[in-house]
Amino acid sequence: MVDSKVIVITGASSGIGEATALRLAKANHKLVLGARREERLQELVDKIVNAGGEAVYEITDVTDIHSVEQLAEKAMNQYGRIDVWMNNAGLMPHSPLIQDRVEDWNRMIDVNLRGVLHGIHAALPIMREQKSGQFINTASVAAHAVHAGGGVYSATKAGVTMISEALRQEEAAAGSNIRVTAISPAATATEIADHITDEATRERVAKAHAKLAVPADRIAEAIESAINMPADTAINEIIVRPTAQA
Ligand code: NDP
Repeated sequence: MVDSKVIVITGASSGIGEATALRLAKANHKLVLGARREERLQELVDKIVNAGGEAVYEITDVTDIHSVEQLAEKAMNQYGRIDVWMNNAGLMPHSPLIQDRVEDWNRMIDVNLRGVLHGIHAALPIMREQKSGQFINTASVAAHAVHAGGGVYSATKAGVTMISEALRQEEAAAGSNIRVTAISPAATATEIADHITDEATRERVAKAHAKLAVPADRIAEAIESAINMPADTAINEIIVRPTAQA
């Protein structure tokens, strides 16, 4: 059996975060779960605990640096360490730029990009102190290629991969024993399309996902494999696509 780790996940109330929490709890890890929807977090914690696992939650808005600090404090108060911090909260309200959906642009920057930095702010000093840890940052295939309607989303996700690589280099140079993994999923069956505000785009993405998307647990499985690598080895980038996705 692998060692039990303390794993913090943002955006744990649905989709990839939820699936990862369920899989890692089954593998005997201790989960600290953050998101805004308390009811969903409570249901998830109950499910994990009823199945014999360990999990707690903290209502977290990753756009608020103090809220993210509180999530880290929850983990430290409960378990005294943070072995893995998964910066996963994100949204993808695609639309053509001409639609001028400034609110959507800003929300993506605040959640997808600033949220990741807030996670690093909260967890990195703790991991430095421990002389061990791992960041899992959820990027996207959109970090590797851009398509019409996805300019701002791709910019935030490309930013996540750049920040991840800088962090990797810095921590390797510091000899801090901190690993960094950027995971780039493609079409995955989650609630992500529900939050697209442009109706035509929402329908198009939902249709494509209905045809192609793999279950969120596939992404969780890839994350688990990165966590399970021996401490001297880091899987730094993972791209996971449905086999049939072009
Ligand atoms: P979901 O919509 O199912 O999950 C998104 C999660 O982010 C929810 O738990 C939501 O919780 C949380 N979230 C949103 N805003 C905030 C916030 N301000 N503070 C804290 N949590 C927040 O989508 P996915 O599971 O698909 O998304 C997870 C990650 O995967 C995202 O980063 C996304 O960009 C990425 N991704 C997804 C792909 C896909 O096809 N599904 C493909 C590539 C990447 P709540 O609303 O309760 O706060």
